Amino acid sequence: RYGHVFRPGSLGTLRLPHRLLMGAMHLNLETLDDGGAALAAFYAERARGGAALIVTGGAAVNRAGAGGPGYALLTDPAHRAALGRAARAVHAAGGRIALQLFHAGRYAPAANALAPSAVYSRFTRGTPREMTSGQIAETLADFAAGARLAQELGFDAVELMGAQGYLLNQFTAPVTNVRDDAWGGDAVRRRRAPVAAVRAVRAAVGDGFPVLFRMSAADLVDGGTPADEAAALAVALADAGADALSVCVGWHESPVPTVQSEVPAGAWLTYARNIGQALRDGGHGSTPVIASHRFTRLAEADEALASGAADFVAMARPFLADPAIVAKSRAGRAATVEQCLACNQACIDRSFGQERVSCLVNPRAGHETEFPLRTVGRTGRYTVIGAGPAGLEAARTLAGFGHHVQLYEAADRPGGQLNLAARVPGKEEFAETVRRRVRQLADLGVELRLGHRVATSDLPSLAASDGVVLATGVLDVRPELPGTPLRHVIGYPHAFTAPETLGRRVAVIGGGAIAVDLARLLTADGTTGREVTLLRRGERIGAGIGPSTRWVALCELRARRVRMLTGVRYREITRDGVRITDAEGTERHIAADTVVLAAGQERELDVSAALRRAGIRFVAAGGAAGTEGLNAARATAEGLRAAYRI
Ligand code: SF4
Repeated sequence: RYGHVFRPGSLGTLRLPHRLLMGAMHLNLETLDDGGAALAAFYAERARGGAALIVTGGAAVNRAGAGGPGYALLTDPAHRAALGRAARAVHAAGGRIALQLFHAGRYAPAANALAPSAVYSRFTRGTPREMTSGQIAETLADFAAGARLAQELGFDAVELMGAQGYLLNQFTAPVTNVRDDAWGGDAVRRRRAPVAAVRAVRAAVGDGFPVLFRMSAADLVDGGTPADEAAALAVALADAGADALSVCVGWHESPVPTVQSEVPAGAWLTYARNIGQALRDGGHGSTPVIASHRFTRLAEADEALASGAADFVAMARPFLADPAIVAKSRAGRAATVEQCLACNQACIDRSFGQERVSCLVNPRAGHETEFPLRTVGRTGRYTVIGAGPAGLEAARTLAGFGHHVQLYEAADRPGGQLNLAARVPGKEEFAETVRRRVRQLADLGVELRLGHRVATSDLPSLAASDGVVLATGVLDVRPELPGTPLRHVIGYPHAFTAPETLGRRVAVIGGGAIAVDLARLLTADGTTGREVTLLRRGERIGAGIGPSTRWVALCELRARRVRMLTGVRYREITRDGVRITDAEGTERHIAADTVVLAAGQERELDVSAALRRAGIRFVAAGGAAGTEGLNAARATAEGLRAAYRI
């Protein structure tokens, strides 16, 4: 299987065993004060898992080029040492690694930002300073110095970041380059900086060292690089000495979703195909094209390669979800690969937020040193109460250590709130995550008891366990509001599981992440003509949804004419709607046939109280530990942590 993936290939002089790379992702591990231990462990695990080549997250070639405080700075000796350690660790694991040379330009924190022109950035909410020609020349020299350093540190290749709206891409786009000098004015002068960067790097590293360039085939912003100019850029980069082009689309300011779950697999492949055609037309048919974005399975990569649209495929998030995606697929165990959900909860959103990157379905990602793989051998008896995301993760981890695990779930199916998410169009993969986890638990011999609410009769066996993880999750809050006992008032779990029973006009008390998901579900079938109104006390609809996905969800709700009222005060639920005071202080009645309560969650306390009364010690995880900032990524991370700490 996957005959197109598992063919050797070359990027310049670098011979690779197959065609699947781990693409660059900023991790916020790069500058940890740990001597590079976490970074090295993270990449080494992906190398052991079979990535043909790993491209690091961007390392800034100078201080102005750092995308934030968590970016490795090639001028900082400690960061250089950490990167060198990562390269050695990858080699020791049998892998190959390229260093990405990065300059954020106007996407750097506004106080430092330098760019081709002083054009405001919605991403940083700041305006950069225009670079002088001296600063441009110095920056190109810094790219060259970075490449030389990569060689010295033992990297196998470099990749210049020239996409996603970062500095070199800002030069090519008319909207961000309004200069009229040697570095801007027409297409040739606008592409001069990226081409000169490749020339400078090639001159610095010599002919034999692989130089990749990550280019943007479509900026997806008004005034972005035109398609014919992107094609001409590809040829000019190859002329200048680039050994391969990694093809990207979109900027952080693009109004078009590129990597969210709503985007179909392989949606951007055609752009890689176009760049390949441009290279062939320009006499560079042997320069490989690397496709990226929205590939999550080897089957998709294989299909893309079979189509001839690309020579290699780069994936980033799927290597967070499962470092061994390649090894497992190669061994005929593709069904056991942890599938990336394109949720961005623990990866891209944290990367933006200067937080350590991890993964919802693999909370060890980014924490490999904290949670080292343990050899199986200890055999205790543990009980996990609750089979939602936290409980499933705790049970899987404990059973993986070799323990006997009993997993109790009060509902008649495992998965908890993941089952609600799975009903939302675009999030169907959540259901597969639950099914996969249940299969893993069965393979590990976990005793799963569904429909079992922990009762007094269970306490003696719990007391005899070596440890108990409490992962009973959350209950939906019923607000103190006149009218809540009325028959047309329901909790959000019921609305998710039986949306067909709701009336045509639905008012939702609440406007957080759950309410937004519910509105998406209720309006997914455009034929029902359902009118949905979200009523939020706070100011932000969808607060708590990560920045990379919230805007996509809100666009969808607007397109479906979902009413979103913020700053409201709830007065009462009536027989035919909800009475509120709106943000202007006006009393209004929102007509509704069904009123859904999605105003928050609280911890389920009965079981923990019973355990405490019986003197049984436990570790709480997920909603049972607290509801502040709770999401599925936090729940799985706490399940893992509980299993290691118990
Ligand atoms: Fe994929 Fe979500 Fe994990 Fe990110 S957090 S790697 S999007 S599953």
